[in-house]
Amino acid sequence: MAIHQENCEICERIAQCKAGEHPGFILEMETGYAVLGDSQFFRGYSLLLCKTPATELDELTPEIRLKYLEEMALLAEAVRKVVQPHKLNYECLGNMVHHLHWHIFPRYSDDEQREKPVWAHDKAARRESQYNLDPARDAPLMAAIRDELQQLMQSHPE
Ligand SMILES: [Zn+2]
Repeated sequence: MAIHQENCEICERIAQCKAGEHPGFILEMETGYAVLGDSQFFRGYSLLLCKTPATELDELTPEIRLKYLEEMALLAEAVRKVVQPHKLNYECLGNMVHHLHWHIFPRYSDDEQREKPVWAHDKAARRESQYNLDPARDAPLMAAIRDELQQLMQSHPE
């Protein structure tokens, strides 16, 4: 894997998932770990951390790539069913952390900036502490997404 970096945040998060220490852990899937995002400014914001430490989609084998994309779509569907947003945003950036991870952002109809990318929202506002992932507050949300995801995975067998 060409550009994968040392001290990778995604590798660290995956290690936390494996150790049962990731506060936002939702579910282990075949190609990745579904987790709730650190900031819940966009309620339901979730990520799919790729088990393969690749930087670009084209570095995955065709089989893993298709499965990874499918599982991203399943996570997105589960999030959509639980939080019922106006729209979902799907982002795969990796400009800072060179390890594939999907961002799933629910967008809401009362968001005055809903026609713009999530990044149009002021960074400081998005990171206000009231939006920090709170395991006590967010456990029901994570459980609901996990339940939906497990049902979807059962209805989409290999
Ligand atoms: Zn990594």
